[in-house]
Amino acid sequence: MKVETIKKNKKDLVSPKPNLESYEKEYKKFNWKTAEKEVEWFGKDSINAAYNAVTRHALSSKRHKVALLWESDTETKHFTFAELDDLSNKFANVLQGLGVKKGDRVFIFLTRVPALYVSFLGILKLGAIAGTLFCAFGPDALKDRLLDSGAKIVITEQSLKDRVEKVKPELPALEKMIILEAGQDMKDYEVDYNKLMSAASDKFDCVKTQAEDCAFMLYTSGTTGKPKGVMHAHKAIVQQHMTAKWVLDIHDEDMYWCTADPGWVTGISYTILGIWSNATTSYVYSGRFDPDKWYSLLQKHKVTIWYTAPTAIRMLMGADPSIAKKYDLSNVRHACSVGEPLNPEAVRWGLKELNILFHDNWWQTETGAMMVSNYRCMDIKPGSMGRPMPGIKVGIIDDTGKPMKPMQEGNLAAKPGWPSMMRQIWNNEEKYNSYFKNGWYLAGDRAKMDKDGYVWFIGRADDVIKTAGERVGPFEVESTLVSHPAVAEAGVIGKPDPVRGEIIKAFVTLKAGFQESDALKKEIQDFVKTKLAAHAVPREIEFKKNLPKTRSGKIMRRLLKAQELGLPIGDTSTLEDY
Ligand code: ATP
Ligand code: MG
Repeated sequence: MKVETIKKNKKDLVSPKPNLESYEKEYKKFNWKTAEKEVEWFGKDSINAAYNAVTRHALSSKRHKVALLWESDTETKHFTFAELDDLSNKFANVLQGLGVKKGDRVFIFLTRVPALYVSFLGILKLGAIAGTLFCAFGPDALKDRLLDSGAKIVITEQSLKDRVEKVKPELPALEKMIILEAGQDMKDYEVDYNKLMSAASDKFDCVKTQAEDCAFMLYTSGTTGKPKGVMHAHKAIVQQHMTAKWVLDIHDEDMYWCTADPGWVTGISYTILGIWSNATTSYVYSGRFDPDKWYSLLQKHKVTIWYTAPTAIRMLMGADPSIAKKYDLSNVRHACSVGEPLNPEAVRWGLKELNILFHDNWWQTETGAMMVSNYRCMDIKPGSMGRPMPGIKVGIIDDTGKPMKPMQEGNLAAKPGWPSMMRQIWNNEEKYNSYFKNGWYLAGDRAKMDKDGYVWFIGRADDVIKTAGERVGPFEVESTLVSHPAVAEAGVIGKPDPVRGEIIKAFVTLKAGFQESDALKKEIQDFVKTKLAAHAVPREIEFKKNLPKTRSGKIMRRLLKAQELGLPIGDTSTLEDY
């Protein structure tokens, strides 16, 4: 494999200076005890993540700085740290008035409106456990999560409340629904958000939660199976803070935009907690993805740091190139990507077409914060997810826990104990325990590490293809496919074959202006053969209009496979309409 390196020009690394100046030096000397001093503690083992995100800034000279710059398609609103602190105090009082206690689960089912951020912080201040639900979830997806978590309260809005109401009779633990813009005919278990908020005091003594107390819970994306309820402790803020500082490289003066919804972990750890802990302004756009709109927002708000996902980048790549040319994106000084493998072609495209270098990083709902990253101070090898965060030992190991040699494929693993590691899988201890083996946390992903310590993603453990005695990672094949001029997106699976064990089958969507034909299939196959290897050529290619994706934008290979083999399709609660 030919590895290209994008060298960082030291001259460009001055304004501002990267927060992490030397990866190697810091990795050697780092310890979490020192990092813990960057956030505020109430006492030795007592910390509250929401206090760190807003209250401590509201009590400082940052109090009038904008924390949340919120925009919909019709209006824009600003909230300073002091305002967010007051509002979340009010909300904590509202919950307390409704009988919510420490450890109770309170779920938020809202579109990206300011109340989402206010209520999240309020729940944490009270010591209750916040859960978020993506606003496109239907009644069954809601029922699964609300029933499993035993949620006591749901905060929702007029346009979404019917979906919860439909399943309410099956949720014995659900006591109240707090409704935004509640109408006239309210049921006995419904309460009006605005009314309660205007009556509530804005003074609240943030509960002095223990570092290990749970702050929020999140159901995973459901890419590989039924979503799991992952529990995170208040102490996770330490790592969310450090990674926001070092990986996202946020500085005081930055305008930061994370495009992820708080229904997924990225939107919680890196729109809310890690960003506000660093007292930086988070920009939130409540509308949908649209290339023209997104570029216009980057320009309009002079966004300096942009955190997004491979699917969005690939969609931008597929859009008409003249759209990007209309806008000035020169304020974006740092960009990162997460959630799926970032194809090298996407990195090259970003640099060439937008003059933006996307820095890939890897982590999971379960890890709570970034684990492997490309840092601003570090050269980039497109296709690699970067190097382990200082303080985290990542290993590529075999099934007995033995480390693999450089560039040998193995299980991607980490030594347990990082601050933002999940503390439980709700109601499922067995599942929780299954992540740990031979002293390692196993991510369920396959990867390799080069001699410089850069980690290369191969695929989910279940997705790696065994064909004619060779192991083939879907990521490599998909990356080659999307580097063909006609291909917009690709999802690759192993299809059982009597002779080869499995053959590679690729599902491909085409860029605008290209026609499906057998000749094009052949051309794509030849392309993979020359670019990658003969054994990695998809013997079957199927053109599709769209690929099945989770609502967080991940290709659902398990669905492609189930459809192909006529098997049951399993949990589709996170499947996007396609
Ligand atoms: P489920 O666990 O329910 O199947 P999921 O694994 O997609 O869903 P998340 O926790 O949102 O849920 O995603 C984490 C996974 O996403 C990782 O295990 C990895 O497979 C993939 N991933 C995240 N970031 C990257 C990246 N930079 N490169 C490659 N894969 C990534
Ligand atoms: Mg997972």
